[in-house]
Amino acid sequence: MAIAVLALQGAFIEHEKRLESLGAEVFEIREAADLARPFSGLVLPGGESTVQGKLLLELGLFDALKARIEGGLPVLATCAGTILLASRLEDDPTKWFGTLPVTVHRNAFGRQLGSFRAEEEMKGIGRIPMTFIRAPLITETAPGVDILARSKGGICAVRFGNQLALTFHPELDPDPAVHRLFLEMVRESGGKP
Ligand code: GLN
Repeated sequence: MAIAVLALQGAFIEHEKRLESLGAEVFEIREAADLARPFSGLVLPGGESTVQGKLLLELGLFDALKARIEGGLPVLATCAGTILLASRLEDDPTKWFGTLPVTVHRNAFGRQLGSFRAEEEMKGIGRIPMTFIRAPLITETAPGVDILARSKGGICAVRFGNQLALTFHPELDPDPAVHRLFLEMVRESGGKP
């Protein structure tokens, strides 16, 4: 079984390279036919959530992926991917998958100046570099959501069961710890990465 990486837009290639370097088999989801291939984990990359959400709907991928996530498929979401998972966006009625019970503030640092690097502690992993690019922050979490890291006064990493969601880009830093954690979740769920 393999890890599927949503490859409609954004920073997906870096996720593929990182997962492959950790020994995982990886393939891209670009159209509905790709869903016929078995996969035991899903990556929702960063990029532009509005574009990705619209493409998911137009390409007929949305309902099937939502059902798989609700069914317990391990998901690693970064940045725009986290916006797609969120059950609520601040000051915005848009909701995409809505499977992750958190509130997300898009472009929390402003649209242009919101890109920076930090180093923070992530629960279960330790101190890691974090690259934020026009990043959102998580401003509220429902009970049951495990807060894994904070930066700049907000929450930047959470886990809710099968969903690991970050507002930074671990695929752009050399540290493989986050992807290792995700592959661990895939193994625990019974799928071989
Ligand atoms: N600002 C983007 C959005 O709202 C997310 C940025 C990112 O994925 N790096 O979709």
